[in-house]
Order: sequence, then C-alpha cells, then structure tokens
Amino acid sequence: MKSLRFTSYAAKVKSPSIGEHRAVLYPEVVLCVEVYHSSRKWVKTQEFLVLGHQTLIELRDKIHCSTDQVMLKAGQHDPSGYFLIEDVFFNDLRDPSAIDYSEPIFDWLRNSKDEALKKWESITTGELQQKQKAIVGAVTDLQLPQFKAVDMHMTRFCDLTFRLGAGYLYCHQGDCKHAIVIRDMRLIHSEDVHNRAGYPIVLFQLKSRVQKCDVCKIYRATKVTVDDKWAQKNPCYFCKDCYFLLHYGKDESLLYNDFSVYDYQHD
Ligand SMILES: [Zn+2]
Ligand SMILES: [Zn+2]
Repeated sequence: MKSLRFTSYAAKVKSPSIGEHRAVLYPEVVLCVEVYHSSRKWVKTQEFLVLGHQTLIELRDKIHCSTDQVMLKAGQHDPSGYFLIEDVFFNDLRDPSAIDYSEPIFDWLRNSKDEALKKWESITTGELQQKQKAIVGAVTDLQLPQFKAVDMHMTRFCDLTFRLGAGYLYCHQGDCKHAIVIRDMRLIHSEDVHNRAGYPIVLFQLKSRVQKCDVCKIYRATKVTVDDKWAQKNPCYFCKDCYFLLHYGKDESLLYNDFSVYDYQHD
C-alpha cells in the first residue's frame, strides 16, 4: 500500500502539542486529504494527514470554513453535514438537531428518476458519446448508481472505497460545498508522528485573505448579510457604499428588512 509518489512529510510536521498520547494501531495507513474552497473552486484551503483507523468525523472537525463562523454569529449555525465519497453519503448526525441532508436527495432520486437519469448521463458521458447518441440514439442502458447513506462517525478511512485523486464532496451549513481529494496513501513509517491524538495533522492551511465586497469587488467588506433576497450570495459581503446603495432608497429609508445584517470583522 505504499504509493509510488512517496512523500515524506515528517520533516515538515511538528509533533502535536497535545499532551495526550494514544498509540497508533499497526499496521497503520496514512492518507493525505485535500480540502478545496467552496466558491474559488481550484483553491486548496487545507491539507491533512489522517490515519486509516480514524473516523471521518475526526477530519470533519478539523475542516475550517468561514461559513461556519458566519452562521454561528448569525445564530443560524447548523451542525449537519455530509461527505459524498463514491456512491455513499456519510452524514454527521451527532448533534440531536442535525438534519440528514441526504434524505431530500434520496427523495428526489426516487420521485424524479428520469430527471436524475438525464443529469447523471450528462455528467458521465463525454461530448463524443453525446454526439453519437444524437445520431444513432441511446445505445447503452444507463443506470443511476446505487447511492447509500451511512453515519459519518461509524466510518473509518480504512473502511472506505475510494479512488486516489478523485473529487469527492463535503457539504455543510445547508449548501456550502467543498471538493475533497484523497491525494496519497501509504504505510506509516518511522519518521511519522506515532501519536494517534496528533492526527489529523494540518499540512497546509490557506492564509485568510481580506474579504472584499461581493458587489464592487474592490473595497473591503464591512457588512455581511444573511438571507438577503436581493444579494447575489448567501451570506453576502458588502463595503459600506454598496451596502447603502442596495438597501436604502433615495430618502435614506431601508427598502426591505427581512434579512439579517452584521458588522464584518476581518480576522
Ligand atoms: Zn464551507
Ligand atoms: Zn462594494
């Protein structure tokens, strides 16, 4: 199980500062997992080393996304979330108030099978096959994958069926979606951290940048709105001027008030 692109991270990784020591279960596998930005699709935000015997929950708890903080500030934080890896939804249902996000998807797959099949076909078939289909008609009997739903905290990385380098999904706070890639997999070696409590190890963390106004994309954001019907995003960031222009009329009265607004502080 040693990958060809063997990379030693040991030099870059410091031992965990956590006092607790939990022995690694041998033989152990180390996986390198990448997390991508929710809107800037090709920007990697984090990279981790996780152990094969760790559960998906342990990774989820280390994923940092500003949407979590925004929703927390807005008093609308939702503990739900899932990973979609191959055909399996791994739902985080630890919190009693957590929602099974995969349920409406399964309902849709059941109730709108034709629509789902069409979407699946356009995802899986290339341009050539689509052209062939236009000329000779459908030749293959396309089937939707047999999707399943499982509890996230019941699943360890070593129980997963996955392909190295394939794009999977992490979804949280309703519809904040991140691509996840398992980039590498190898056996643990002597230079690795051998304290289970130290994992997942953060190998890379994108530095937070200045949040710009979503409207003019020039000035620093000073306000953030949630569930704002005229905003292009949810949450939406505004500079002082753009916020005023969108939300206030000529007589300086608020045009609508069925949304939440907060002062935005840069970290
Ligand atoms: Zn997110
Ligand atoms: Zn602006």
